[in-house]
Amino acid sequence: MSDTLQIPRHFRTARLEMQKSRRRIKLGAVIVRGGNIIGRGKNDAGGRSTLKGIYGSRSTHAEVAAVMSVKDPKNLRGTCIYVYREANRLPANARPCQACREFLQAHGIRKMYYTCESGFAVVSL
Ligand SMILES: [Zn+2]
Repeated sequence: MSDTLQIPRHFRTARLEMQKSRRRIKLGAVIVRGGNIIGRGKNDAGGRSTLKGIYGSRSTHAEVAAVMSVKDPKNLRGTCIYVYREANRLPANARPCQACREFLQAHGIRKMYYTCESGFAVVSL
């Protein structure tokens, strides 16, 4: 992320979440509804997720952990997710895998923001 680029503030919280991950490749995610963070998660080993993805099938992806942290699934409708990853202290590609995309879509999440080498990307679901 260049210094001149405006970093959406929710990425900062997603980054804090990422720092809690014990995985070698660390990711953090937050779910935002009406400007407020209603869910957060980090990638982790094992867990309830059986989703197969680019970060390994025997793990819980940060996106899934964030969705699962929201108690009432109704609150997920129309929300945005922010996914953060870093490599060598710089933003790195955090593009959600296909399984996560479908999972997010199925829960009514409308838009995803994720870091990439050039800063961040936004994709409507
Ligand atoms: Zn995934």
